[in-house]
Amino acid sequence: MNTTREKVRRTIKKWLKDSSHILFPAQCLLCEEELPSNNLICSFCEPGLLLTYYEKYNEPTALDQLFWGRVKIKTTYALLFYEEGSSTQLALHQLKYRNRPEIGVFFGEKIAERWGAKLMEQKIDLLLPVPLHSKKKFLRGYNQSALIAEGINKLINIPIGENLAGKIKEKGSQTRHGRFSRWDNVSGNFKISNKIKVYQHIAIVDDVITTGSTLEALIKALRNIHPAVQISIISLAVTK
Ligand SMILES: [Zn+2]
Repeated sequence: MNTTREKVRRTIKKWLKDSSHILFPAQCLLCEEELPSNNLICSFCEPGLLLTYYEKYNEPTALDQLFWGRVKIKTTYALLFYEEGSSTQLALHQLKYRNRPEIGVFFGEKIAERWGAKLMEQKIDLLLPVPLHSKKKFLRGYNQSALIAEGINKLINIPIGENLAGKIKEKGSQTRHGRFSRWDNVSGNFKISNKIKVYQHIAIVDDVITTGSTLEALIKALRNIHPAVQISIISLAVTK
């Protein structure tokens, strides 16, 4: 592992933990009412979250079925349903466009509370955030899916492979091998490191799933280099 990266990751983690109450006033994310504690959502809004309760399902969920006949997936989980005008849409918008990284960590912890036992049972050995194109990540300051993974990692100690996959913006850029020399494999719009091969069961972490086509492409890219790998999916939200 790259120790400098690991140090930076730990520093960011500590920074998020220590200073969130100073940087972000205690205000409910959804109704903007003042909060008595260092929380994100007030007790009035919390029951209004569109929880999927997928953790209670014994039968296949709509999210499981979304990938049938496309790619083989071991388990899937989404915490919230996404609808136009919903609290989920507001939370995702704040996370992605309003510089509120703590939202990703917060919901990552919520996922771990409900789905953590399953992650352990399934022996997930890597959390792989869906990569963002580096320019997008630079402009936003973070990859929101990596923050969700950080939240899961706070409660369940599964390593995060943020640097094991990358996104390529245009298809044409694949030909410019020099720029991606540290990457071992380029497939579709993704570049994957050979280091991925040491993991047996990877959970891809996403922010919101609509058609599933991005995940399908990423899974195909992973299996190109690591055909035997088991893959699961964890998302903050899924369209209903
Ligand atoms: Zn509220």
